Amino acid sequence: MDCIFCKIISGELPCTKVYEDDEFLAFNDINPQAPVHILVIPKEHREMLSDYGPNDEGLLGRLLAVTTEIARQQKLDHYRTVINCGSDAGQMVFHLHLHLVSGRKLSGQLC
Ligand code: 5GP
Ligand code: ZN
Repeated sequence: MDCIFCKIISGELPCTKVYEDDEFLAFNDINPQAPVHILVIPKEHREMLSDYGPNDEGLLGRLLAVTTEIARQQKLDHYRTVINCGSDAGQMVFHLHLHLVSGRKLSGQLC
């Protein structure tokens, strides 16, 4: 499959890993918008948030829970989480990912 993030999960492409478990991988964004800019992704490939539904509440809940754990590990007090869904929302990589952004004062911009 021609998906950058699947290639990162498989090890075909490198990343700076921040966290990994059976279900999720987190790594530093290649083009950080803030001093801390981590992407948290499910290992299972689905393009975007709208590909998930009521049957996925466990996975989506664990995605947020694992994000809070990563934030604790990184000693982040204040941070922003963003999920872009669809190209007009700014999504460029079509494998669900949550942006975890911190380390500077974040104002109106999304991330
Ligand atoms: P999106 O705009 O789809 O919500 O965010 C995609 C993010 O993936 C962007 O912040 C971009 O910098 C990041 N990104 C794109 N390609 C790579 C890559 O090969 N490695 C890493 N670590 N980040 C990437
Ligand atoms: Zn993928």
